[in-house]
Amino acid sequence: MSTRYRVYSSHLQEKFGEKVYKLPINLPGTCPNRDGMVGTGGCIFCDEEGAGFECLPNSLSIEKQIEKNKVFFKKRFNAGKFISYFQAFTNTYLSLEQFKANILASVKDQEIIGVSISTRPDCINDSYLDFLAELKEARGLNINIELGLQTVNYHTLEFVNRGHTLAEFLDAQLRIKKRGFESVAHIILNLPGDEMLDVIENAKIISALQVDYVKLHSLYIVKETKLGQMYEEGLIKLISLEEYIERVITFMEYLDPATVIQRLVGKGPQGNLYFCNWSTSWWKIKQLIEEFLEERDTYQGKKFTYLNGKALKNKNLI
Ligand code: SF4
Repeated sequence: MSTRYRVYSSHLQEKFGEKVYKLPINLPGTCPNRDGMVGTGGCIFCDEEGAGFECLPNSLSIEKQIEKNKVFFKKRFNAGKFISYFQAFTNTYLSLEQFKANILASVKDQEIIGVSISTRPDCINDSYLDFLAELKEARGLNINIELGLQTVNYHTLEFVNRGHTLAEFLDAQLRIKKRGFESVAHIILNLPGDEMLDVIENAKIISALQVDYVKLHSLYIVKETKLGQMYEEGLIKLISLEEYIERVITFMEYLDPATVIQRLVGKGPQGNLYFCNWSTSWWKIKQLIEEFLEERDTYQGKKFTYLNGKALKNKNLI
C-alpha cells in the first residue's frame, strides 16, 4: 500500500480501530437538475441511474438493504462496524420529514456507527444539518456529507450543465464544517474544457476549505446521454491515460497532506458505454499512479505551500 498519499482504508482503520465498511442504500429519487427545478436533462454525463450503479434495487426498504449488505460485507470482509451510505441521486432533495425518516431508518442497527449522505451543493440547508447535529449528539454518530462538485471551474460547470456554480459548493462546505461534520468532494479531473491549471485550482480550493476527503473520477461516457451524443458528433476531446495520471499526480502534490483520498479513479458503470477508463481496469490505473509516485519520488502535499500567507513566508517575514 502506498505511503505517498493518505489512503482511505488505512485512515478508516486508524480512525475506528477496526474494519469499517459503507453499506450503500438506494432510494427511488430524482435530482433538481433532472426534474426541472434547477435544470432539465441533468449533467451531460449523467445516466438514469443517478450516479449510483453499485446499489441494491430501490424497491427494497432501507432496513432490508442494510440487512442484506451487512450479511455480504460480514461474510466477505469480516467487517464489524458499518456506515450507512445514501449514494445514488440527491439524498437531501426531500421534505425535511422524509429526510429525517430515511436517516432514522438507516441507523436503527447498533452496528451502524455513521451516516454518509451524497448530495448536491445546492441541496444543503441548515434545518437538515441541524437534525443531523442532534443525531450526532444523541447517538455519537459519525456524519459525513458527500458533495458532487466535479470542478471548481465555473465555466466547465456551466458546460456540463451542473445547475450550480462554485458559490453553492463554498456555501454548503462552510455550513457542513460549522457543525463539525466531515465533507467529501467528488472531482472529475478530465472534464472537457478543464486544463492542468484547473486541476491545480481544484486541489488548492479543496485544501483551503479543509475538505476532509476527496474522490477522484475520470469521465466516462454513457450512450444515450447528452455527453454520449456530443461524443458521437466528435465534439468531445478526451485526454490520454498518461495525461490523466499526470493530472492525478499534480492534484496530489498540491493537495493538503491531511486530506484523505478515497479514490484515484472511478469504476464506471457496466455496459452501454462509449468510453470508460481508457478500457483499462480501475485498479491497473491506480497501480500506475502509485508507480509514478515512486518513480518521480513525489507525494501528496509536496507543493502544499500556498496557504497562510505564502508571500510572507517566501520573503522570510514570518
Ligand atoms: S447531480 Fe448527480 S443525479 Fe443530478 S443530474 Fe448530475 S450526476 Fe445526475
